[in-house]
Amino acid sequence: MKAVFITGPGGIDKLRYDDLPVPEPGPGQALVKLHFTGVNFIDVYFRTGLYKAPPPIVLGMEGAGVVEKVGAGVTELAAGDRVAYAMARGSYAEYAVVPAWQLVVIPPGIGFDVAAGSMLQGMTAHYLTHSTYPLNPGDTALVHAAAGGAGQWIVAAAKLRAARVIGTTSTAAKAETARTAGCDEVINYAEQDFEVEVKRLTDGKGVDVVYDSVGKSTWERSLNSLRQRGMMVSFGNASGPVDPFSPLVLNQKGSLYLTRPSLGNYVATREELLWRATDVFSWLRDGHIKLQIHATYPLSEAGRAHSDLESRKTTGKLLLAIP
Ligand code: NDP
Repeated sequence: MKAVFITGPGGIDKLRYDDLPVPEPGPGQALVKLHFTGVNFIDVYFRTGLYKAPPPIVLGMEGAGVVEKVGAGVTELAAGDRVAYAMARGSYAEYAVVPAWQLVVIPPGIGFDVAAGSMLQGMTAHYLTHSTYPLNPGDTALVHAAAGGAGQWIVAAAKLRAARVIGTTSTAAKAETARTAGCDEVINYAEQDFEVEVKRLTDGKGVDVVYDSVGKSTWERSLNSLRQRGMMVSFGNASGPVDPFSPLVLNQKGSLYLTRPSLGNYVATREELLWRATDVFSWLRDGHIKLQIHATYPLSEAGRAHSDLESRKTTGKLLLAIP
């Protein structure tokens, strides 16, 4: 089968598009013939070596396709089922072996492209807004990179919970996209100091929660944008990982809360996974959220997708079409 993998960390020149053997599903696993896979920033972290795994690493953490066969002990799924998943590595490939408990059946009316493109970022938005900091009506959230893949989902999920959403983006065109996604206010953080703007928009009080996926470059001002006892949700490193810091800072800035969550810990059981995936599919089906697909690249051009994502050229979802 064709797959995109790396044998060592580095730039996009390290991505190999080559043949690998089709994997065999073991007990409790299923072999999925993939139709689409989603591109996520986590794929970049694995490629660059920020996140580690033993080589060779087939990249890709989400996909959608058809069950080809199941391993011993799998009773809930059968060959021919349309399924999608997130947080199992190896989806930049024609086939992937996935733990069966991580697979969800795609409801009728939802295509493989939308399913593949919604699992990881949709369930991330769900856990951030429903579990990490469960938003209440009237809460104010600051969402960085609000026109991005995860960003648009978080904005929309926060609006479903009747929160006020302030988004940040780096261009005027992205600001428009963020507004369409549901932002009440958008700050161009390439031109304006977002801390000053947030204070102005909240009458000096600060926001209840910051959902910060940008990391290094926004860290300090994100903390400064919080109200007393507000929550900093640092969930990504698009600009680089946050430098080490003293917990005393949280005291000095108003007894703040800090968490550094990961989707894997919020879909850790079958029950929790189904809760989030079912909600995500119903948001799509009921039209509460429309997936914005930025572009679909052939699997062989995964490097171009990485390059576009890393260079801040994209809004919404990037997909790879599997041959
Ligand atoms: P995005 O589509 O959001 O792309 C990244 C965006 O980050 C860019 O478009 C850009 O938006 C912004 N950005 C700011 N600074 C930089 C920089 N120096 N280099 C590149 N981009 C920058 O990507 P994803 O939706 O795939 O992921 C967004 C973030 O969410 C990532 O950090 C990812 O790790 C995190 N994430 C975390 C999860 C978790 O469970 N912890 C799960 C899913 C995603 P702009 O130009 O507007 O600034």
